[in-house]
Amino acid sequence: MTNECIFCQIAGGKIPADIVYEDNDIVAFTDINPEAPVHLVIIPRNHIASLNDVEKKDTELLGRINMTAITLAKQRGLDKTGYRLVSNMGRQAGQTVDHVHYHLLGGRFMMWPPG
Ligand code: 5GP
Ligand code: ZN
Repeated sequence: MTNECIFCQIAGGKIPADIVYEDNDIVAFTDINPEAPVHLVIIPRNHIASLNDVEKKDTELLGRINMTAITLAKQRGLDKTGYRLVSNMGRQAGQTVDHVHYHLLGGRFMMWPPG
């Protein structure tokens, strides 16, 4: 955990969030600035700054994050309509929080390609 990182603070219970799922390795919570009717953020509990910093030992963790997203989507009925799972890496892609996270977005029609 790093003291400055907002997602580490959420994972550590230091700042409040609407947590919808957590286990020993993963935390999922509602995005504070939702871009869709469903907008969840799914993070590893451990601080990893970005996808650039993922290592081979994190392979299972990333798979579990993906499975968690799929389960959360199904729980919300998004498997019937569609959803998007997105991880922004770096400033040009729109990453603003330097702790690896996946956005789960759904509940509205979405454009492709993204802006
Ligand atoms: P990024 O822009 O890095 O891909 O995504 C960061 C996301 O984290 C944004 O969608 C932003 O709204 C969300 N976010 C930033 N700070 C907080 C916070 O303190 N609480 C919650 N729940 N979401 C946050
Ligand atoms: Zn962090």
